[in-house]
Amino acid sequence: MTNRIDIEAVCAERGLRITEQRRVIARVLSDSEDHPDVERLHERAVAIDPRISIATVYRTVRLFEEAGILDRHDFGDGRARYEASPESHHDHLIDVETGKVVEFVDPELEALQRQIAERLGFRLVDHRMELYGVRLDRD
Ligand SMILES: [Zn+2]
Repeated sequence: MTNRIDIEAVCAERGLRITEQRRVIARVLSDSEDHPDVERLHERAVAIDPRISIATVYRTVRLFEEAGILDRHDFGDGRARYEASPESHHDHLIDVETGKVVEFVDPELEALQRQIAERLGFRLVDHRMELYGVRLDRD
């Protein structure tokens, strides 16, 4: 659903040194729609290049995160989860039973948050909104 930045392209633009293994991890991140944790990223990277270690995945996500091209989320289960920075803002709803993440954008919610900030004397520059739920159609 979300358009995500092309990590490889951004690295190239900024002159960030990108090794072959980092390139694989960048591609896996840009292709992942499900906000994977490091273990899942490692599984996917290893499927492409079996030499990639979990330590390399940890180092690489830290590097991308520091460069501001990767967003880290904490969806309440203690495991950091990642997505290539989206090109436009969205929020998340987390299925607490499966860990599945649903992305959404709601203009009314965006406006309401700006209004709340203004009422409190602030201009809103950023926010994080996470909803946690169980499926209504669950047996
Ligand atoms: Zn997302």
